[in-house]
Amino acid sequence: MSQLLLGCIADDFTGGTDLANTLVRGGMRTLQVIGVPDGPVPDDIDAVVIALKSRTISPEAAVNDSLQALQWLRAAGSQQFFFKYCSTFDSTPLGNIGPVADALADALGASFAVACPAFPENKRTIFQGHLFVGDLLLSESGMRHHPLTPMTDANLVQVLQQQTPKPVGLVSHEVVNRGSEAISAAFRDLEAQGYRYAVVDALNDEHLYAIGQAVAGHSLVTGGSGVALGLPDNFRRLELLGDARNAAALPFVDGLGAVVSGSCSVATNGQVEHWRKKRPSFALDPILLANGRNQVREAIAWAQDLIHAGPVLIHASAEPDSVKQAQQKLGIEAAAQIVEAALSAVAVGLYHMGVRKLVVAGGETSGAVVKALGIKALRIGAMIDAGVPWTLALRDDPVALALKSGNFGSVDFFEKALANAP
Ligand code: ADP
Repeated sequence: MSQLLLGCIADDFTGGTDLANTLVRGGMRTLQVIGVPDGPVPDDIDAVVIALKSRTISPEAAVNDSLQALQWLRAAGSQQFFFKYCSTFDSTPLGNIGPVADALADALGASFAVACPAFPENKRTIFQGHLFVGDLLLSESGMRHHPLTPMTDANLVQVLQQQTPKPVGLVSHEVVNRGSEAISAAFRDLEAQGYRYAVVDALNDEHLYAIGQAVAGHSLVTGGSGVALGLPDNFRRLELLGDARNAAALPFVDGLGAVVSGSCSVATNGQVEHWRKKRPSFALDPILLANGRNQVREAIAWAQDLIHAGPVLIHASAEPDSVKQAQQKLGIEAAAQIVEAALSAVAVGLYHMGVRKLVVAGGETSGAVVKALGIKALRIGAMIDAGVPWTLALRDDPVALALKSGNFGSVDFFEKALANAP
């Protein structure tokens, strides 16, 4: 019998990992799956996060994908459902937060749900229904220029109301400050008045824990990863969840270690430099690759000779001048594609060589590598640095992956990750 407690639907991949990380820290054994899974949930899992790519697709497609995910989570026995979106409420007047929340609530028969993207640890706070990014209103932050989801109104009651015909209310910080019972009472009042949603103010983690407690009986919760902070304790109070100690434990993985990097972000370039001072590295060059030189085969042969003596790094990471040169010569898209294809092929080659502890730097690069390795589900383990956990890809022959987006991690991240690999 499945023990699944919380079923989550995230509107993008890294948002899913962020939520999964929060749940693991709260003591829930969490699996992140890429798209709606086709198999059953393993027995020892408390929460599943289904990562969709539904943030910027059409509202109809987003609703369709989200309902399929919901159906799978319900069939798996999930007791509560969480719709995860970005802490900056990334959406357009058409959606997809409103339409997806409406569809999930209707399917679950939920007459009321919170909408709380607050994430104080990352400086996203909500005051009188207005979302702040640091000390700026959302509408004055960089998000106003976002290419796909420009956010030009910080009033979340208004923003959500544009996306749904159901009434949207507010539970303000005066109520939130009084704790979970006062918040629950405010929810009941709003629901009795016919409201479907409440945007809830939250300025700090205590607020989020109190809101988390107040939504214990809600079948649907919507928000950022912050509002999930309080959810594990709800299950613990019902004695459905054990203590927090072992949730991040991953089984021991036997195999070689390596790093593949396609990120050219400042932090990654520093990490590559740091590694190169003491350890073996191989640089891929998009222009050579485009000219037909088989650098993938060269890199794999090079790694084969060295890897039994210790982990190796294969990278396309380069300084801005050299990236610009490749982009001018090949086009931005083509350069990226050539590099992603090469690094994916390298990752597959390393895997066949016996690498089972793989650090990947770069968000897009991680997506490409995960796809090339045919990975569909990741068990989330302990955090290496803020926002980057070790994960275990569940497959016949398990492989541990640390997927690092560009600007994350300390300068010695690669060494640290491999030293702490499962
Ligand atoms: P980050 O998380 O730092 O943004 P990504 O992997 O998401 O890293 O994006 C980096 C992009 O740059 C990828 O598409 C990658 O293929 C591309 N890239 C990597 N190295 C080079 C290079 N030397 N020249 C041009 N493009 C590159």
